[in-house]
Amino acid sequence: MSSSATLKTAASLPQEVARRRTFAIISHPDAGKTTLTEKLLMYGGAIRSAGTVKGKKSQQFATSDWMEVEKQRGISVASSVMQFEHDGCVINLLDTPGHQDFSEDTYRVLTAVDAALMVIDAAKGVEAQTIKLLEVCRLRRTPVITFINKMDREVRDPLELIDEIEEILGMPCAPITWPIGMGKQFAGVFDLDSERMLKFTPGESRPETDLEVLEGEDHPYLVEHFPIAHATFKEEVEIVREAAESFDHEAFLAGDLSPVFFGSAINNFGVRDILQALVSWAPPPRQREARQRTVRPDDGAFTGIVFKIQANMNPQHRDRIAFLRICSGEYRQGLKARHVRSGKTIRLDHAITFMAQERAHLASAFAGDIIGIPNHGRLRIGDVITEGEVLELEGIPHFSPEIFRMARLNDPLRAKQLNKALLELGEEGTIQVFEPLEKTGMILGAVGQLQFETVAHRLQTEYGVDAAFESVPVHKALWVSSEDAAVMKRFTQANANRLARDAAGALAFMAPNRSVLDLTIEKWPEIDFNSTREVG
Ligand code: GDP
Repeated sequence: MSSSATLKTAASLPQEVARRRTFAIISHPDAGKTTLTEKLLMYGGAIRSAGTVKGKKSQQFATSDWMEVEKQRGISVASSVMQFEHDGCVINLLDTPGHQDFSEDTYRVLTAVDAALMVIDAAKGVEAQTIKLLEVCRLRRTPVITFINKMDREVRDPLELIDEIEEILGMPCAPITWPIGMGKQFAGVFDLDSERMLKFTPGESRPETDLEVLEGEDHPYLVEHFPIAHATFKEEVEIVREAAESFDHEAFLAGDLSPVFFGSAINNFGVRDILQALVSWAPPPRQREARQRTVRPDDGAFTGIVFKIQANMNPQHRDRIAFLRICSGEYRQGLKARHVRSGKTIRLDHAITFMAQERAHLASAFAGDIIGIPNHGRLRIGDVITEGEVLELEGIPHFSPEIFRMARLNDPLRAKQLNKALLELGEEGTIQVFEPLEKTGMILGAVGQLQFETVAHRLQTEYGVDAAFESVPVHKALWVSSEDAAVMKRFTQANANRLARDAAGALAFMAPNRSVLDLTIEKWPEIDFNSTREVG
């Protein structure tokens, strides 16, 4: 195989763009996201042995100074974007942090990808974090591939799992493979199209290419060794063939149908199917709308948008990494670029790419790729960088917060600084800030607890403000709008005590609980209640 360096110099921009696949893995914690990531990287030849990605929590990826700091924080920048090659494609895999790292950034990652891979734990089915993340995919009509993991365990009925995905997530499913048995009786998966079965053998490090393929639904091996599993499988396949959707590429690309694969990540089983689906079905980088024009990925000039900022938690360093998705053209080291918000010229000298093999200061990267730009706070979420043109790309949306707090000052004399700091952090996208129409004090909204910790830390280190957070009786904030100005006015008057303005001045309904929200939505049919607010 030719090296990536040879390919890079040999191929033209449209070719480079066409071979890129940029996707995020979404799942609930413990479904197997890390394990699957590791196996995908092994296929890409990016890592040699299992355990490397897990090692992100320790030393493995930390190879430079700025990463030292991330290590202390326990979150690795390096493992949040991983690039590898497979079958002629350059694959960018973006992590969606979960657990205590869940924040608005987790959602924003989904604005930087062209497809998503959803991992479901077959014993647990659809779980809370998956529901939230898939909602964002649905909003953006992102194509979703589904991997139902842990078939080597006693898990739930596969038909029931498909029903659950369709019902709870509202995502029609097209099974591509179907499992034969589960747990100790897991015989393998059957490819519904080619009518071949991939025989399951447990083992972590065995390459999947070694697996045995058996022809047909009634192979003597199955009938003899797995008679019960085989009988159940036959019944299920009949139902699937009659009742399930069949795969339709257009519907998948429109985000209306998800191809479903079964497997076991830890046993490296079913992983190759996923990679194949990514390469063959997932879209190459898509065009983006800007106020001025449509930005096509193979436009010659460089355009990118910042979708995530990783702030340094070490008070000694104010540097941070802005994650930028290249929307068009090519990044070359030393590129003189325009920072559209400020109108200033910046030189992109030390952008970082995220090849899983090694962290590298790359000479070039193309539309679809992600680069990290070290900076001292100049770059913010939603910022656009071009080769000189003034382009306002469709912004990164704000997502409806779910945790609310009010900042309480430990030193009341610092009130002015607190207000200034919160507004700045709000503008930056670290947290959402809401100013109630009728009350004083600012309400902070986040989707993850980590965001408050970040704010408290930055208040202290960057603004010298010592603040604590206390809870407020807000359950959910939804942005409100109406095409009818008179209705909007009446609504605003009637609900002034529950309305607040966010950092951009947009009006949000701050519901104290679920039932008030439901009643208000029912009472005001001409008002739109939105769970995202597009910016830009
Ligand atoms: P994450 O939190 O989604 O990143 O999940 P991990 O990849 O860390 O996996 C969570 C747990 O499930 C770990 O103990 C894994 O070893 C285990 N696991 C992952 N895949 C499989 C699988 O296919 N079968 C079984 N039995 N366990 C698995």
